[in-house]
Amino acid sequence: MNLLHICKAFATEDAALDYLIKQRWPDGVRCLACDNAKVYKIATKGKSGKPCRLFECADCGLHFSATTGTLFHDSHLPLQKWFMAMALMGEAKKGISANQVARHIGVQYKTAWYLCHRIRKAMQDMNPTPIGGAGKVVEIDETYLGGRKLRKGVKAHLQTIPNTQAAVIRPILEQKLSPDTKTIITDSHPTYSWLLDSEKHQVTNHKEELRTDGEISTKTIEGAFSLFKRGVIGSYHHLSKDHVDSYLTEFCWRFNRRGMQPVMFGEMLRELVTKKPMTYRHLTREVF
Ligand SMILES: [Zn+2]
Repeated sequence: MNLLHICKAFATEDAALDYLIKQRWPDGVRCLACDNAKVYKIATKGKSGKPCRLFECADCGLHFSATTGTLFHDSHLPLQKWFMAMALMGEAKKGISANQVARHIGVQYKTAWYLCHRIRKAMQDMNPTPIGGAGKVVEIDETYLGGRKLRKGVKAHLQTIPNTQAAVIRPILEQKLSPDTKTIITDSHPTYSWLLDSEKHQVTNHKEELRTDGEISTKTIEGAFSLFKRGVIGSYHHLSKDHVDSYLTEFCWRFNRRGMQPVMFGEMLRELVTKKPMTYRHLTREVF
């Protein structure tokens, strides 16, 4: 969904809330405490005097809203603004800065920054299936940021690593790489020869590629990694070390869903309403 779709589909806060409720409870609202399916709707007024739709459990009497206990929890922003920010982040191939989001949806920078981080949180842990598989080729590489890229048209996984020792690389390969992958291409770093099955493992030589193509890995760098780098330079300018992995996650989420725009929005929203709240103070490490 692009911004125009969002504005049309969710012209009112009620329409946005109805959609959110359907994503959270596709089979009907259930009590958050006792899972009872019989709940009453209550129309009340929030602290600011704005109309507020609550539910009351017919059994235990719990009052809750559609956003209670989710990443939307305690947000004073209209849902339309949330939805716009989600659409912007889902569409921005090279990423979008909190500053740009702030300007697009008309909020303060700090609000947009917190909003973007919660949306990014929704994108986490959403790539559980291993990379590669029968007959597939996987390419692994690192750069100064610490990461890995894969051939165009396949899935990508990017993460920071403290170093390239076997103890660091092994658990990532075990978790992320499908064991029946046909071919695994890496650079000549000895760790890979040590860890990978020699029958599947192929080593590329960056220097040779540099001579023939004029640029290292021009064919594959089209993929996730170069996009991320352009995102860093073009959109984020600089990244806080604390948050690099969450930006990488956002990037892979989008990269792995290219061409899937129609379903991206709903998927993102379902994660937002099923994940636990994340406070601003927690995010900025003021408390632990
Ligand atoms: Zn209940």
